[in-house]
Amino acid sequence: MKQTVASLGGDEMEAIGNIINNIAVTHENNGDYRDEEGFLVCGKCHTRKESDIEVSKDWKANGIWRVATPCECRKKEIEAKEKAEERRKFLQEFERIQKNGITDPQYLQFKFENDDMQNAKVSKVCRNYVDEWETMKAENMGILFSGTVGTGKSFYACCIANALIENLVPVCVTNFPRILNKLQGLGQDKQAFIDKLQRYSLLVIDDLGVERDTSYSSEQIFNVIDTRTRSNKPTIITTNLTIQEMEKTTDMQYRRIYDRVLEMCPIRLVMTGQSRRNQNAAEKREKALSLLQGNSDE
Ligand SMILES: [Zn+2]
Repeated sequence: MKQTVASLGGDEMEAIGNIINNIAVTHENNGDYRDEEGFLVCGKCHTRKESDIEVSKDWKANGIWRVATPCECRKKEIEAKEKAEERRKFLQEFERIQKNGITDPQYLQFKFENDDMQNAKVSKVCRNYVDEWETMKAENMGILFSGTVGTGKSFYACCIANALIENLVPVCVTNFPRILNKLQGLGQDKQAFIDKLQRYSLLVIDDLGVERDTSYSSEQIFNVIDTRTRSNKPTIITTNLTIQEMEKTTDMQYRRIYDRVLEMCPIRLVMTGQSRRNQNAAEKREKALSLLQGNSDE
């Protein structure tokens, strides 16, 4: 039985819809010509700009309708346009997530591409964490980076954050001084802000333990950490404290906080080595000296 327009299925109707849409954009250009069967051929890519579709004989006497279809170069043009549009949408979404999640410009600089590989082991774990993100997320696996100042804790935590944002994962990087500051100005809306932090697929809290030690702040920190624990979403925390210090805290308020942190962060990365900050400072000092001394020689 011959197919008629009336008996066409959804896919075919869609195909016809596409063809009809293309009629509007396909037109004869200089250099186009007709082949021996009378089809219009593109003068640039030499493929047909028309094709025949079968239609009801009630509609067309010969049962054939010749319609405009994109030639190969036009198809490529359409594809490129679609790709550009996809890219534009991606960038828009990427920028939205980045702006929303990382407000400190310093954190944006910490990326795997800037990794000096001084700590290859940690670097590998962090890269794998990004690759295995779906599992890490499903299993609610957080990371605790501990170690002294300048060993790269924030750097690697942010490398993970930035890499995941590039995959359009909603991530927030913040720290408690910032959170506490924000909470102080919020009055009644404190809980709404704390709840908002739970919407991020990954929360990175930098430098736990540097905030001022007051019962107000420890209560708010507990509230944030506890709410996050219950969200069942992973959290990455960096701290100057050692795991022993966290485990042995006698302050009951902090004990509750650290218990939650250790529970949330089964992956523990102890960062050792020379302080990068000192190293950077030394490098800067040397550079400045050689520059200044060099200048004074002239
Ligand atoms: Zn063409």
